Amino acid sequence: MKLKLDWSQYENAGMGDAYADIPKIGGDWAKAIAVCIGSQQCQRPHKGVMCPSFRVDGNPLLSPGGRVKLLKSALNQPGATTLYDPDIRAAMDLCVSCKGCKRECENEVDMAAIKAEYLAQYYATRGWPLRARLFAALPRLLSLAPAAALIRRRNRNPWLARLGERWLGLSAAVSWPEPQAAAFAAPPQAEGNQGVVLFVDTFSRHFQPRAVEAALRLLSAAGYRITIVNGGADAGLCCGRSHYANGQIETARRLAGELITALTPHAQAGTPIVGLEPSCILSLRDEYLKYGFGDAAKLIAARAQLLEEFIAHEQNAGRWRLPFAVGSQPDAQPILVHGHCWQKAAGAMKSMRKVLKSVTGLEFEFIESSCCGMAGQFGLEAEHRETSRQMAELALYPALRQHPRAAVVANGFSCQQQILNGGFAPPRHLAEFLAALISPTP
Ligand code: SF4
Ligand code: SF4
Repeated sequence: MKLKLDWSQYENAGMGDAYADIPKIGGDWAKAIAVCIGSQQCQRPHKGVMCPSFRVDGNPLLSPGGRVKLLKSALNQPGATTLYDPDIRAAMDLCVSCKGCKRECENEVDMAAIKAEYLAQYYATRGWPLRARLFAALPRLLSLAPAAALIRRRNRNPWLARLGERWLGLSAAVSWPEPQAAAFAAPPQAEGNQGVVLFVDTFSRHFQPRAVEAALRLLSAAGYRITIVNGGADAGLCCGRSHYANGQIETARRLAGELITALTPHAQAGTPIVGLEPSCILSLRDEYLKYGFGDAAKLIAARAQLLEEFIAHEQNAGRWRLPFAVGSQPDAQPILVHGHCWQKAAGAMKSMRKVLKSVTGLEFEFIESSCCGMAGQFGLEAEHRETSRQMAELALYPALRQHPRAAVVANGFSCQQQILNGGFAPPRHLAEFLAALISPTP
């Protein structure tokens, strides 16, 4: 089996351990699967945020450990002939790549990455369906005017939505996120003392330009010298996330290589690289290390951070002197905060808490939710829509119903869409929330 991702970090995993039970086929990928010790901690009912697919269904085979069991069994068959059998395919299909297991499993089973390799192998043998190709190509399609117009028409025309479901398997029951009429375009920047790179990912550019503008206002007001990457003439870069999620590893690797090239001079200069969409910027810290770029990727990974991580770090270092205060805007308190599952997996919610605690007069609560269920494209797919809604009903939707007047902060673009599709008021990115709370310097 020729692996698509670089699994060399697992080269020595389980070696010399008579009980590791490493499958015969699958090389270092199989070793990554075999780090599961079968403790079944991931199958305990009501255990924290781990594995939304298990929590919704209660089927042990839909837990991280259950998936490991299925994969190991298939990789021990001669030729791994059962790897794509319907039961394994279905179990992998319902993994939403939330990384809950990577964070909470005692042996850090990384099922999201294991699934990426699985999908790449599966599609390489069976071919990519049109829907997967479309989702993968979405960042490129968004720069074409007809794509944005088509999404808007589809959302307003039930007949078109039903056609999309019949032909492409796109659920007619949910609205699609709509690209903004004007994508973000970088304005001229004022000088500041400390340098910072703001990486404008494709989804923020097209769907959340307000969040990018708010981040610029924040960083400028705090006195930073901002270099925008992928915001103006250089727009067209992409982290490759949508290709990775659809098993197109070669394209994802090529796009990652282009972005690494653009960011390397900044990273070498020691400049922090800040991003807004968790699934894009955090890819630079995790998925990029599996493309085989070696030290170049490690350098970028060491600099890449979410906005809240950057602010918290600067506050800790005593360099962030821009105060925040609720002041004349005490409406809709307490604020509810929904973390993107990759924010949680990366341990970034601590930074979120620290930054929000620095806002004078703010009351806030974290929603103890796991994946919201949208998970990129998962909640837009017809066959997954009901499961996606059930995942949202585990904690997110009930918390929002309990506080109907609360303002909601949610950084994830797909989390925002899931909240809107539940009939709740539009949430805001932390950047927008904080930019509205900049208090006058005393
Ligand atoms: S995935 Fe982790 S928690 Fe689940 S059985 Fe394996 S080692 Fe235990
Ligand atoms: S990535 Fe999330 S959905 Fe997939 S097995 Fe792990 S916890 Fe479950």
